[in-house]
Amino acid sequence: MKELTRKRILVTGGAGFLGSHLCERLVTQCHDVLCVDNFYTGTKDNIAHLLDCPNFELMRHDVTFPLYVEVDEIYNLACPASPIHYQHDPVQTTKTSVHGAINMLGLAKRVKAKIFQASTSEVYGDALVHPQKEDYWGHVNPIGPRSCYDEGKRCAETLFMDYRRQHGLSIRIARIFNTYGPRMHPADGRVVSNFMMQALRGEPLTLYGDGSQTCSFFVDDMIDAFIRLMNTDEDPGGPVNLGNPHEVSMREMAERIVAITGSSSPLEFHPLPTDDPWHRQPDISRARELLGWQPHTLLDDGLEQTARYFRARIEASSEAVPANAPAAQRPALT
Ligand code: NAD
Ligand code: UDP
Ligand code: UDP
Repeated sequence: MKELTRKRILVTGGAGFLGSHLCERLVTQCHDVLCVDNFYTGTKDNIAHLLDCPNFELMRHDVTFPLYVEVDEIYNLACPASPIHYQHDPVQTTKTSVHGAINMLGLAKRVKAKIFQASTSEVYGDALVHPQKEDYWGHVNPIGPRSCYDEGKRCAETLFMDYRRQHGLSIRIARIFNTYGPRMHPADGRVVSNFMMQALRGEPLTLYGDGSQTCSFFVDDMIDAFIRLMNTDEDPGGPVNLGNPHEVSMREMAERIVAITGSSSPLEFHPLPTDDPWHRQPDISRARELLGWQPHTLLDDGLEQTARYFRARIEASSEAVPANAPAAQRPALT
C-alpha cells in the first residue's frame, strides 16, 4: 500500500503548532522526518517528545536561505501564522513566504520531490463571496498591515502553480482555514488562544466588533487532510480548501470557552482590527470529492482538549501567581 512506503519527508516550520502535529503523525507512520525550523514562533518543546525517535531529525534553518537535502516529499509550513507574529516583522514574513517558497520549490525540482504548500484562507482577503470556493480570486488589500501575509501567501501559490506548469512539479496547495488545538502559542493573539488564556485567568474575554464574525476548526482533522492531500494520486490541479464549513460566531465561541473552562470571565467588546475578515466559510466540496475528507471533531471536544493543554501550561509556568494578578506579575508564556 502506498501510504505504508517509508519516505524521507521534510517538514518546514515543523516546530510550530501545525508542523509539530504533522511531524508526530509522520513519525508514527514510520517515515524518516526532517524537521526544519528557525524557531521564530515555534519551539523545541513542541517536538521534544520526538527528539529521541530514530526516524526524526531536527535542523535549525531559515527557509529564506537555500537548503540542500535529499528527500521524497516536502511539506512547506514555515511562516508565522498569527497576525501578531506575522506583523511583528512584515518584511521577514514576505521573505519567508516568497523566498522560502522559491527555495523549497527549487529543492523539490532538483530532487524530484512532491511538495505541499500550507496556504491560507487569507488569500480570499475580506471575501465578498460566501462560502468561498477555490475559484474565487479574493478581495485582498495589497498595502495594509495584513498584506505581508496575505500577498506573500498569494505569491507563493503563484510560484507553486508556475513550477507545476513550467517544470512539471507535483504540487499540493492547501488553503487552510482557522485551526486551533493543543500547542497553539498561548500569546499569539488568535481568538481561541486569547479566549482560553483569558477564561482560565479569570480575565474579560476580548471580543472584537460585536462578535458576530465567524470561523473555526481543529487540528486532528487538519493533519489528516494534509496527509490525504499529499498522498492522493489525482492531481487536484490547484488549491484545495481545508476547513470547517460549519460557522461559529466569535460570541458563541467566547460563551462556549467560558462554559468549558468553568470560568466566570465577562465578555468585553473592542474595536475590530483593520482588514479583519467578516466571514470565513470554506466550501469544501473539492476536498470531500478528492480526498473523501471532512472535519469530524466536535467543537466542544476540540475546545476541551485545547483547554486541558492551556491549563497545563499555565499550571507549569505560574503555580504561585493568582489568576487575577496583573499581567506584569505573571511570567511570560513563550
Ligand atoms: P506557527 O507559527 O505555530 O508555525 C510556523 C513555524 O514556522 C514556526 O515553528 C516558526 O518558527 C517557523 N518559521 C517561521 N519562519 C521561518 C523561516 N523563515 N524559516 C524556518 N522556519 C520558520 O504557525 P502554524 O499555525 O503552525 O501554521 C503553520 C502553517 O500553516 C503556516 O504556513 C501558516 O501560514 C499556515 N496556516 C495556519 C493556519 C492556522 O489556523 N493555524 C491557518 C492558515 C494557514
Ligand atoms: N535551491 C535550494 N535547494 C536545492 C535547489 C535549489 O535551496 O536543492 C534554491 C536555490 O537557492 C535556488 C532556488 O532554490 O535559487 C530556485 O531554484 P531553481 O532551480 O528553480 O532556480 P535557479 O534560481 O537555481 O535557476
Ligand atoms: N478575535 C476576537 N477576539 C480576540 C482575537 C480575535 O474577537 O481576542 C476575532 C477576530 O476579530 C477575527 C476572529 O476572531 O474575526 C479570528 O481571528 P484570529 O486572529 O484568530 O485569526 P485570523 O484573523 O488570522 O483569521
